[in-house]
Amino acid sequence: MKKATACVHSGNANHNPAHGLNTPIYTSSAFGYLDTAENIYPRYYNTPNQEVVINKLCALEQGEAGLLFGSGMAAISTTMLALLQSGDHVVLQRDLYGGTHHLVTTELGRAGISYTLVDEPTVANLEAALQTSTKLVYIETPSNPLLKITNITEVSDWAQQNQIISIIDNTFASPINQNPITLGVDVVIHSGTKYLGGHSDLCFGAVITSQKLRDRIHATAINLGGSVNAATCALIERSLKTLSLRVKQQNANAQAIAEFLQQHPGVEKVYYPGLPDHDGHEIAQQQMQGFGGMLSFEPAVDGSDGAEQLMRQLKIITPAISLGGVESLICAPAKTSHIKLSPEERQQVGVSDELLRISVGIEDTEDLLEDLKQALAATVAAQLA
Ligand SMILES: *Cc1c(COP(=O)(O)O)cnc(C)c1O
Repeated sequence: MKKATACVHSGNANHNPAHGLNTPIYTSSAFGYLDTAENIYPRYYNTPNQEVVINKLCALEQGEAGLLFGSGMAAISTTMLALLQSGDHVVLQRDLYGGTHHLVTTELGRAGISYTLVDEPTVANLEAALQTSTKLVYIETPSNPLLKITNITEVSDWAQQNQIISIIDNTFASPINQNPITLGVDVVIHSGTKYLGGHSDLCFGAVITSQKLRDRIHATAINLGGSVNAATCALIERSLKTLSLRVKQQNANAQAIAEFLQQHPGVEKVYYPGLPDHDGHEIAQQQMQGFGGMLSFEPAVDGSDGAEQLMRQLKIITPAISLGGVESLICAPAKTSHIKLSPEERQQVGVSDELLRISVGIEDTEDLLEDLKQALAATVAAQLA
């Protein structure tokens, strides 16, 4: 099955006595055990509704097995705690999702786990960070908010050579645009809250991997207890049916917006993997099937106030945190994801006060371009004069 077909048909359960097309919602937290192969319980991650969703995600990511969690952070923290123990070392790319960065810097040390953050996960930088106790390498590509591209195969090959488990946070790309398991990565993690849910109304996470690693993560997941209930699973299942459709429109809209912004005299810089002059464009072309719905740009406005004025002029694109939904959202990373960094640190990682990030939705392209055009005209006029 190709992806759009897999979104609709893969994983669907066939245990429906009334022959309804959709999976019934099993509201039970108590299941009979005399005639089942294993004991079923929500926190054992094996209820029918959990399994339908996980099977669909495995088909989309081409993984053997997986687990569904109550949030992206539950997926990330459980995976790390399952695969690491006191005395171990982990190498991570520095450009991490803020919550992951906070998890690593506040929790790992307390568990006796050390870590090294590398600026760019090239083989040379990974090699320099490698210790005899290194057990994991963890990357995110495209990264937030500058859409930096990491060469996935380079990292997974290096991990295999050194017998280290490789993990990728594939949230920004979604399984429609990037399938890291086919590129040799061991564990794929998603914040399903974003593209998989896609309507800004669900919070969940997922891990897709081999059966062997799934079983290792599962053992800890039962102890940590970050499972999802059946009603949410049914909404996730419905959301996944339109994932391919949504992401394709988001890709197309983002490409059009990036190209529009790049030629606009009131915009100084655009960050989007689909632009030929974006750093890493060629690698993105090799490892992605679409360039995604996330982009950032620097308008010719003055500081945070100028960026805010521009956002307030927009009529369709909505200033809000989070991403991946059907509606286009905009935010200033300096005031949201990177607010805890000092101005110097922000400068170091390339997040200026003027930088704006758009999570492109599925609206009509022309309406989004028109919205940006009028907002830029109202705010960068002084700079253009
Ligand atoms: C949102 C996000 C997370 C965390 O997911 P939650 O569902 O909010 O726990 C992790 N990684 C990335 C890239 C994200 O965007």
